[in-house]
Amino acid sequence: MGGRVRGRVTHRAALPAELIRRKRLGGTLTEEEIAALVAGIADGSLADGQIAAFAMAVCFQGMTHAECAALTRAMARSGTVLDWSTADLDGPVLDKHSTGGIGDKVSLILAPLIAACGGFVPMISGRGLGHTGGTLDKLGSIPGYDVMPDAERFRAAVRDAGCAIVGQTGDLAPADGRLYAIRDVTATDDSLPLITASVLSKKLAAAPDALVMDVKVGSGAFLPSLETASALAESLLAVAADAGLPTVAVLTDMSQPLGRHVGNALEVRESIDFLTGKRRDPRLHKVTAALAGELLVLGGLARDLLEATSRVERALVSGAAAERFARMVAALGGPRDLLEAPARHLAVAPVRLPVPPERAGVIAAVDARAIGLLAIGLGGGRRHPADVIDPAVGLEHVRGVGESVGPDRPIAVVHAASTAAAHAAATALRNAVTVVEAPPPSLASPVLKRMSQGDRVPTRRRGGSRR
Ligand code: URA
Repeated sequence: MGGRVRGRVTHRAALPAELIRRKRLGGTLTEEEIAALVAGIADGSLADGQIAAFAMAVCFQGMTHAECAALTRAMARSGTVLDWSTADLDGPVLDKHSTGGIGDKVSLILAPLIAACGGFVPMISGRGLGHTGGTLDKLGSIPGYDVMPDAERFRAAVRDAGCAIVGQTGDLAPADGRLYAIRDVTATDDSLPLITASVLSKKLAAAPDALVMDVKVGSGAFLPSLETASALAESLLAVAADAGLPTVAVLTDMSQPLGRHVGNALEVRESIDFLTGKRRDPRLHKVTAALAGELLVLGGLARDLLEATSRVERALVSGAAAERFARMVAALGGPRDLLEAPARHLAVAPVRLPVPPERAGVIAAVDARAIGLLAIGLGGGRRHPADVIDPAVGLEHVRGVGESVGPDRPIAVVHAASTAAAHAAATALRNAVTVVEAPPPSLASPVLKRMSQGDRVPTRRRGGSRR
């Protein structure tokens, strides 16, 4: 199938269907073939059905490290790759990403926290995926907040507030944007190489100096066991090392929702309460502090984790992190008084239903995935890429493992658009928790394991700071 162009022998690219077939049968694709598929995803020449079939073939057959690294590179380069060297920033550019969970609002707290400690955080985040919530959907519940700013506004927000959490605008890793939306609704969200390439392509396009990965473990994670989550962390660390990006992975517990609220506006509310010191859920605090600490050390803003931890706590207690959050929201078009008056701006559901357990006792286990699906059922996530989500719905004051529940101590309060939806969610919630008689199970730390790149990263990038 060769042709001759200006004296060179060229090979006509294989049909996308042939590449998909090869992957489906367990074959390996070359860097060029993967680049051709990614180009087709980005320019629209590949149909949704072909993309879904490719994703499903990868789900079944996996990818070699070389294929996964090639997919990551091609998706990162499918649009603009940011360049911060001309932005006149006087600190390292740092980023964190989560592999996805329920009630995971860490980004909303961590980005301003790092900014308050001297880092700059241009965070590209995603919409909800599968049963998990997305940071972008949470921010979308803030009226006026521009989740898709143009490059100039994004850069200005990073420079002025120190952080900006935005979505993949059409020109930032657009191939991942399209693939992500299709994976969300085709049961192709839980593939290790697809998660690796999705996460890292966005991160590489944002061009940070260093990255911390929050790899979730447990019933609400895409890869629930410690073993598969560790394999995902290995894959992320190896592909990031190939790209010269210093990265640490922290494996954290997602066997129950993180924090107290689940749902877009409700999670923004909880993040504001956390930043302003009104209420700080201890598990959310531990996970956020562990990730922020790693990032400060990677970025050269703290000598070690001890110093990093004390910087993090100071930024929280002094209100400096809250102030950065307020600046970020204002810089991206949100209300200037969101921190002072969240109730004035965040949507509230018309129906609130406290859900007591069938029998009083202590929560022994939670099916976090079922809680994520319940939130989608309420309208807080999408069943189809074009669905419009309801920012107001979700769960408030969710009780966790080891806490007692009873007639006066509900498992959670459902926020719903209708009474029927609230009752359906209440049934799903009761089915998602296992309530036993005392004694309560002992509570383990939500920070499970730390993994680093060892000596894989080229020394020219080590230390994170670009100065
Ligand atoms: N986050 C992403 O950006 N992509 C995934 O595939 C999973 C989590």
